[in-house]
Parts: sequence; structure tokens; C-alpha cells
Amino acid sequence: MARVYNFSAGPSMLPLSVLQKAQSELLEYGSSGQSVMEMSHRSSVYDAIIVETEAALRRVLNIPDNYKVGFIQGGASTQFAMVPMNLMTTGEADYLVTGQFSGKAAKEAEKFGTVHVVASSKDKNFTYIPDVDAVEYSPNASYIHICENNTIYGTRFTKLPQVDGIPLVADMSSCILSRPTDVSKYGLIYFGVQKNVAPAGMAVAIVREDLLENARTDLARPAMLDYKTLIDARSMYNTPNCWSIYMMGLVLHWIENEVGGLTEMEKRNNAKAQLLYDYLDQSSFFQNPVNKADRSIMNVTFASPSKELDAKFCQEAAEAGLVNLKGHRSVGGMRASIYNAMPLDGVQALVAFMKEFEARNG
Ligand SMILES: *Cc1c(COP(=O)(O)O)cnc(C)c1O
Repeated sequence: MARVYNFSAGPSMLPLSVLQKAQSELLEYGSSGQSVMEMSHRSSVYDAIIVETEAALRRVLNIPDNYKVGFIQGGASTQFAMVPMNLMTTGEADYLVTGQFSGKAAKEAEKFGTVHVVASSKDKNFTYIPDVDAVEYSPNASYIHICENNTIYGTRFTKLPQVDGIPLVADMSSCILSRPTDVSKYGLIYFGVQKNVAPAGMAVAIVREDLLENARTDLARPAMLDYKTLIDARSMYNTPNCWSIYMMGLVLHWIENEVGGLTEMEKRNNAKAQLLYDYLDQSSFFQNPVNKADRSIMNVTFASPSKELDAKFCQEAAEAGLVNLKGHRSVGGMRASIYNAMPLDGVQALVAFMKEFEARNG
């Protein structure tokens, strides 16, 4: 078996030991006589799994007691709609548009109220993060929405908008669990799980209790799009994504027990990102277009001197077992997504390959 280093932006790599654990439990989970894939979500065996996954998330992220957790289907994109449908109590909200996903979130929210795009980095193709302290926030905004790590462009917020009395809502799909997070700075955090947490097919919302209790009342929401309905039913209003929740539990146990928690996870992620950025910074062949202070530690974009060389690079890298390095079509060039499960070895192999490619083609 030859496993490749997969630099896909998502779905992406899972830790090998997690896959092996899932494999060992695939036919029979515990002494249940069945696979997690076959189990009733109402069974006591499954109940223990979902309870433990939530408990593990609470431990690893240090989630305060006044926050609730929901496992919700429909990916992060459904959260783009659920957030305004539930939280836009004043009929207005502020959006910082720093890439395609936050643009989509803002566009979706326009269907449910007035969206103020209070900052945007579109003028430079989203290669930087606006200064959050220089933004004029709307006094009547129900919340301020950001996309904390911009998967396509390779930028991230290093400072958060913090306005008294206005909750911060963050799409953390591509950075959740990459480092310690002070959950109390947010009103709501959501993330699709397929980047850093589990196989695709689910999002997680972490919501401050008072926002759940005081959700907007002027809008008839489908039950499946109502945070309180889903969370009051412990994410089992209907059949949840049982498998993804189980896998998420395994990934959380890996972070807790093998990695040693989020502080250690961040150290590893910083080391991987630094290796790659240090190489890019001294290279006269490859370039990273992002404002240095705003560089993501999860998604690293770079380009060679020409489109032809970019294509050649991706093809030859794939032949060398380094796959999915093609950049997003709106940026071009390359993108290495180096999420939690990408080992340092993978980034070392990538940098070695880049050096060799530069020597041959530079
Ligand atoms: C991948 C991604 C999304 C889209 O997620 P889906 O689960 O496919 O809807 C949204 N936001 C960010 C930041 C992402 O990286």
C-alpha cells in the first residue's frame, strides 16, 4: 500500500492512526455485533458515541458551559443560511468579505435581511485581511460575520472584530482545531468537518446559549434549519450523520491523546507552515502572493513564473506522490493545504520536491 501526501483543500487527509482505528472497528464496534454504519442512532451504543464526541470537542476546545453544540447536516454552506435565519434579530448584520466563502455567506444572508459589507479585500484579490480595528461596524447589526481562515486565498484573521454587545459569528471550516481558540470571544462558531475534523457530510455549530434562546421570531424557519430545535433534540431531531460523528470522536481522541492537545497541534502546524513559507521567501522561482502578516497556516498558495510551469509542477508532483496541489481556479498557481493530519514529513517532501523542480526549471 502506498499512501500519498494529499494536499487537497477538502475533503482532506485524516490521521493514519484514526483510519486504522476505524478499520479495526469497522465490522464490529465494541461488542455490539455491528458496524457504526449499521447502528440505530437511537441505540444506547450510538448514544454513548455522540455523547463522547461532544464531550471530547468540549474538552479539546475548552468550550464554556454556556455554549451548546449541534451536529448539523448540509455542510458549512447551509450555515450561511441558518445564521441569518436564526440570528439576524434586528434584520441587519455586518459581513467582512475576505474571500469566496464569506462572499457566499453574505449573499445568502441578503435573502433574510440587510447585509452591510463593512470591509472587503476584493480590491487585491483577497490577498490580505482588512484591519478589523479600522472597520466601522453598524450599531444595529445583530452580529458580525467573518470567515476566519480563507481556504482558497491562504489568509487568516490574526485579530478578531470585538464590538461590545454584538456577537461575532465565524466560519472556521478550514482552521478549527488547528490551534487553541477562545470560544468566549464568539457568539457562534461553525465549521464544515471535511477539512480538519472528519469525513464530509456535516457541519458543527457552537452557539452561545442566549443567542439560541433569543433567536429571531419574525421568520418561519423549517425545523431542520432551526438551531434550537436541532440542539434541544441533542442533534437527533432526525437521523444525524452517525458515521461522521463517530469519526470526529476518533480525530478528537487523536488530538487529545497522541498529539497532546491544541497547543501542541498549533506548534506542529506552525512548524509545517514555516518550513514552506521560509522556502518560498528565499526562492526566486516560486512566489506567495499573500500579505505576510495574514498568511494562513492551513492553506499555502504559491505560483511558479508561468501557467505552463504550474501545470508541469502539479503533474510531476502527483507522480512523486504529492497530490492535489493545483490552486483554486480563481487564484491559479498552486495551493498546499496542510491541515492537522498532514505530517511534517509530507511538507518536507513537498519542499524537497519544490527545490528540485526549481533547480531543473529555474
Ligand atoms: C470548504 C469551506 C466551506 C464550504 O463547506 P461545505 O461544507 O462544502 O458547504 C465554507 N467555508 C469555508 C471556510 C470552507 O473552507
